Amino acid sequence: MQNFNSESGQKLQSLNELHTLILNFSSLLIQSPMDLIPEAIQTTLERLGQYAAVDRVYIFEYNIDDDTVDNTYEWCSSDTTPEIKNLQGIPFEAVPRWQDKFRNKEFVYIPKVSEIDPQYHVEKEILDPQGIISLLAIPMFYGETFIGFIGFDAVKEERLWSEEHINLLRLAGEIIAGTIYRNRYETEILEARKIAEDANRAKSEFLANMSHEIRTPMNAILGFSEILLNTVHDDTNKSYLQAVLKSGRTLLSLINDILDLSKIEAGQMVIKPEAVRIQTVFDEIEQLFRVKADEKGLAYRYNCNMDMPEVLILDDVRLRQILFNLVGNAIKFTNNGLIEVTAESNRKSENDKLYDLKIRVCDTGIGIPEDQKELIFKAFYQVEADSARKYGGIGLGLSITKKLVNFMGGELFHESNNDKGTCFTIVLPNIESSDQIPDSESAFIWDDELMHFDEALVMVVDDIRYNRELIKSFLASSSLQVIEASDGIECLELVKVHKPDLILMDLRMPGISGYETTRRLHKIFKKKELPVVAFTASSMKHDEGLIHELFHDYLRKPVGRNELMRCLAKFLSHRVSKQMAEPEVDSQRIKALSKEQCSGFIYYFDKSLKNDFEAMKSAFDAELLQNFLNQFVELVKQFSMTQFDTNVAGFKKALETFDFELFEINVRQMEKHISEIRKNLESYG
Ligand code: ADP
Repeated sequence: MQNFNSESGQKLQSLNELHTLILNFSSLLIQSPMDLIPEAIQTTLERLGQYAAVDRVYIFEYNIDDDTVDNTYEWCSSDTTPEIKNLQGIPFEAVPRWQDKFRNKEFVYIPKVSEIDPQYHVEKEILDPQGIISLLAIPMFYGETFIGFIGFDAVKEERLWSEEHINLLRLAGEIIAGTIYRNRYETEILEARKIAEDANRAKSEFLANMSHEIRTPMNAILGFSEILLNTVHDDTNKSYLQAVLKSGRTLLSLINDILDLSKIEAGQMVIKPEAVRIQTVFDEIEQLFRVKADEKGLAYRYNCNMDMPEVLILDDVRLRQILFNLVGNAIKFTNNGLIEVTAESNRKSENDKLYDLKIRVCDTGIGIPEDQKELIFKAFYQVEADSARKYGGIGLGLSITKKLVNFMGGELFHESNNDKGTCFTIVLPNIESSDQIPDSESAFIWDDELMHFDEALVMVVDDIRYNRELIKSFLASSSLQVIEASDGIECLELVKVHKPDLILMDLRMPGISGYETTRRLHKIFKKKELPVVAFTASSMKHDEGLIHELFHDYLRKPVGRNELMRCLAKFLSHRVSKQMAEPEVDSQRIKALSKEQCSGFIYYFDKSLKNDFEAMKSAFDAELLQNFLNQFVELVKQFSMTQFDTNVAGFKKALETFDFELFEINVRQMEKHISEIRKNLESYG
């Protein structure tokens, strides 16, 4: 026990001890993680109480909203009664002297409660019932913010405090105040973050539901239009139907636009790189905007460097979306002059397939004021308050565009001059070129004659009649029979009677869902005995995981016939029978090859690939073919033999579609090419 009124030596020692104590708990309080702060404050009070040999140490926190104080922490010596429960929500004005002193950052020191001046009798009425003899209360501030006060009660005997001790205890109070403030602040941040996350999740779910609800009827609209397009003969009607289909697709892409933002925010965005013919993308963007540009009297120009690879591996949909937004804005915000789109590819190094792709979209429009250059990337931001009325739009395009570019690993820059125009530049680094020629996109026209299914039974499970009818109509001219079930229970009953060869399963249905129906199906039939394809309007990534786990494949609504057929062909036996024209051998280009090219190619082919070629020829084996192609592609690249490009693409297509006929045609073509090259080499002598 300390005696603060004794010799100055003792006093010095006691002050030293208090110093050390404050130093120790300061580091405890500062280092405590948020959830351990209350415990750390409690320990601090206990140590202070033991050091000062008082009976109660406590903290009152101030509530600015209702001008009250709450006893939030309390430490009591062994036989002292705790008071914390009785001291909640005390009006601060009940003790006006304390209120005034604390506001002036002064402490309250009452050596003897029994001798309180009668004018402060209220204090006596509060302190007496708690048995307090002496009391010291020190205000706690964080900067200029009043946090509350720390108090020291002596219950058993009178306690005298020196000024130096009080000053040190004031310091202790400030350290505790800082900790309480940090705790409150961090808790508020966490709560705010949680609220924001919840709101974001709710928004994403809402958008996903909306997207689902819209995709479902779109399936019927687009599907039946597609059937009509392929059955009517009149050209005018065909063009109307093309317009319905194209507009339907545009509507879908708008829905996707809205959904994208929420997906990006929820971190659910997936980039799907695939082989993309770059020229086609720019041509189609030009086609889309040319009419608009003409209407406004704007020139539209597209430039591209000569050696731009024909095919790059990119996310086609995202690239189009980015260009759609940028070119759309350029036209929207330009009243006269020119829109110029430039694509430039820079090869990383001579032997590399990698390129940096730079795309610029420039206009001679109204420009963007300097002080708003960065703001335009914020969601829903538009430069002029009445922009939406004047130019349309909602201020989402650029925010999505920037996020998409970043997701693709690239960067988006822009320069702008008020009234002179704006230039947006996208740089996508390390984009791979490819020899794979992507399928042409005549998606709506049926490549019918190709696929002949053997007789089989397909079950469509969907609660929406139009969706079932659409599949029936798509398959009407095939040998596939269709039976329908309008919910999971009906499906489970029907499968026992007519065992289908494949099931198309809607996921959201009243009663039991498509997921649950499929789980039950897997209990009746082994998974590999009965292919079940999810047939869904959902577009959220988190559904995809479960879909891959439970189902053999999935078709996304709205579905086109070609897509449906390709999917069915993965599981149902069929043959592909279109009479394909024998590809011609490009003798002219082979004659143009140099002696070095021919001799080098033949030398390496005979040395390391001939045997593989013979083996690959004799069997339509995916692994053999793929191995051979990998090496062959390297070889032709080394000698710049571009005449093999279509040949290689043909093999790849044969592999993807399991098309034996196409495989054989390409074998024949490759043999002819190689023998032409040999002849050419001989002619060099
Ligand atoms: P929206 O076009 O729907 O308004 P965006 O996010 O695409 O939304 O663009 C945000 C804002 O940035 C636009 O409202 C416009 O003020 C400004 N902006 C975008 N592109 C251009 C441009 N090429 N020229 C001038 N201003 C532009």
